[in-house]
Amino acid sequence: MTKKLQAIRGMNDILPSDIKVWQQVESIIKETVASYGYQEIRFPIVEDTSLFKRTIGDATDIVEKEMYTFSDKNGESLTLRPEGTAGCVRAGIEHGLLYNQKQRLWYMGPMFRHERPQKGRYRQFYQFGVENFGMENPATDAELILLGARLWQKLRISEKLELQINSLGSKECRDNYKKILIEYFSQNLDKLDSDSQRRLNTNPLRILDSKNPEMQDLIAKAPDLLEHLDDESKKHFEELTSILDQAKIKYVINPRLVRGLDYYGMTVFEWIDVTKEGAQNAVCAGGRYNSLVSQLGGQETPASGFALGLERLIELSKTNLKPKQQTILYLITTEKTVTNGMLLAEELRDKLQNYCVICDAENTSMKAKFKRADKSGADMALVFGEDEMINNEVTIKYLRDNVDQKTIKLIEITNCLV
Ligand code: ATP
Ligand code: MG
Repeated sequence: MTKKLQAIRGMNDILPSDIKVWQQVESIIKETVASYGYQEIRFPIVEDTSLFKRTIGDATDIVEKEMYTFSDKNGESLTLRPEGTAGCVRAGIEHGLLYNQKQRLWYMGPMFRHERPQKGRYRQFYQFGVENFGMENPATDAELILLGARLWQKLRISEKLELQINSLGSKECRDNYKKILIEYFSQNLDKLDSDSQRRLNTNPLRILDSKNPEMQDLIAKAPDLLEHLDDESKKHFEELTSILDQAKIKYVINPRLVRGLDYYGMTVFEWIDVTKEGAQNAVCAGGRYNSLVSQLGGQETPASGFALGLERLIELSKTNLKPKQQTILYLITTEKTVTNGMLLAEELRDKLQNYCVICDAENTSMKAKFKRADKSGADMALVFGEDEMINNEVTIKYLRDNVDQKTIKLIEITNCLV
């Protein structure tokens, strides 16, 4: 027996019944980022494996466990992108978009991580992300946060999200803090799980990010990074919080927020869904990554950005949104009027550009056609039978309102409908 074909576990189909809310959220996002001057960039789904290893970092969940890596026919190691920043930076360097320029870019598309599928956590999921390059001032980080806040406002979910911020400081103070952290965790080695023991010397910051409930107490008592910031990092962070205060953006400083990727320094932030407990509650996350461009072979370029998970965002927004309905006209033809009916449908599409015209040319009973008209969500059925064709007419049947049907001349049709 042949095996029933199914989607890969953790990879979802988005069906027509769900797509309206996706499209609506996407269009609100696009219109919001456009109002800040961000421009779209599209880069491939597949990249050299080394790109992700070099940017995201070896001792991270993504690189250690979650990447879809395979060798192609030439034996090259390729990886399905697990996030967008690496590809965006690679493309930016390759095409000379970053050096000595100010860029505001956005992208949207599928990402792939081999995680344990559950609600809000998938193996193929969609991210929307923005990245800016060439701007060092913490005001740019504030702009990213204001952009997010404006988006939540448009989606009417502001009350459901809490902004958490932190500073990872400059490389120097971070390196210094890592030593302090290694010392602290080394004294508590028996309380670390195996992941954290392994990361202790390579990436101790990552331990703060652990979701293991048994380690939370130990993590809570760890030395505080904010207390080890140098003057420059402190100033950067204070300028950010000052703008947020003046813009009346509420935030919580979370000194344990380190983010799961290696490239961040200075500002990091997350928007957390407060209606949800635990693991899948981060909707949007980002920060500053001034060293990434040079790490990938470009010139020193300050940069910051964020990415949001569209599934999580849509789950949060969908009850608030009423998708805009397009008026649907359902044109019913008969066997003898199909050809003229098709031409009539074209004419209607020319004249009524905001309408959707569905032409039913199937050779079935009238009853079946009206059933389909109803199911299509159409507001009106336009019956174009033989009598109508001979007399240059069409009969309008109102499917949603209690109004009598009427037969009108074709030349009057646009006046009757608009
Ligand atoms: P988490 O802590 O939930 O694993 P993360 O820190 O790995 O998230 P990022 O890499 O920062 O996530 O990605 C940004 C956003 O993308 C997340 O805040 C989340 O909304 C979304 N996201 C990440 N991984 C997944 C996934 N496997 N399925 C669905 N959405 C995801
Ligand atoms: Mg993750």
